[in-house]
Amino acid sequence: MILDGRKPAKLIEERVKQEIDKLDFTPTLATIIVGEDPASKVYVQAKDKACKRVGINTITRELPIDAKRSVLISTIEELNREKDIHAILIQLPLPAHLDANGITEFVYPSKDVEGLHPLNLGRLVTERAGIAPCTPSGVIELLKYYNISLDGKNAVVVGHSAIVGKPMALLLLKEWSTVTVCHIKTQNLSKHTKEADVLISAVGKPGLITADMVKDGAIVVDIGITKVGGELLGDVVFDAVNEKVSAITPVPGGVGPMTVAMLLKNTVECARRSKNWRANNHD
Ligand code: NAD
Repeated sequence: MILDGRKPAKLIEERVKQEIDKLDFTPTLATIIVGEDPASKVYVQAKDKACKRVGINTITRELPIDAKRSVLISTIEELNREKDIHAILIQLPLPAHLDANGITEFVYPSKDVEGLHPLNLGRLVTERAGIAPCTPSGVIELLKYYNISLDGKNAVVVGHSAIVGKPMALLLLKEWSTVTVCHIKTQNLSKHTKEADVLISAVGKPGLITADMVKDGAIVVDIGITKVGGELLGDVVFDAVNEKVSAITPVPGGVGPMTVAMLLKNTVECARRSKNWRANNHD
């Protein structure tokens, strides 16, 4: 089975649009881009287009590549204070002199659309309602859409970043999978991947996951995206792996559309939380 992400993404989009139609205000997402990375600009344009489809207003703040940390922080604080901005996205990657993990701490947790503030990540650990990172929560929604149960399964996540791999592992635990996380220093990667009922790769190295590393009948989710020439490639050698497994996501058209859909869903959630936060603070 090919796990096409466009179908569930469309469904989520429709639900988000219905929710927005019921609101008496327009949710607004602000994106901060530092530098001129062409890939980042393409992503931001795609997100803006999706926001427009469902009725989310967007604004973009562009800073030069050599912007000081203090300037980026003041931009975030200005957006935090702005009542009509409900969600803030800092487009990654940031230039090397700006520490992304440290910077996300300055975004109000209620406006943290990517769920990367330590408060939101902490809520993920304690399984309290919060805003979860878009890509891993999109993977869970994708598997649910195709009625793939994670309960009691051996799940192996390759990649341990704060934005994808680690929250992915936590969300799989929440669904009662037994989780193994692999990374660049993992010895004998295939020993672990071969044990996976559900294998999720989030590395960014095309060809990393080959057919001999995958168990017969496994479910394979490819989060990796690498642009090679004009082509987008995942981490998994798709054709050969597809012959062995019971389900697999394509690249593109698998996890990517789900990430965008979850961004829209999180923006509405942020809009609700920002409003509540203001109401609770008598503002
Ligand atoms: P990252 O560079 O922060 O992390 C890469 C991870 O891969 C690290 O944990 C590292 O330890 C691990 N790794 C590197 N080489 C390895 C190897 N040989 N064996 C095992 N592990 C190895 O990247 P990220 O931000 O987590 O993104 C990962 C990939 O997912 C990228 O290709 C990115 O473009 C893609 N991505 C896709 C979406 C989407 O919507 N589909 C969203 C976010 C990221």
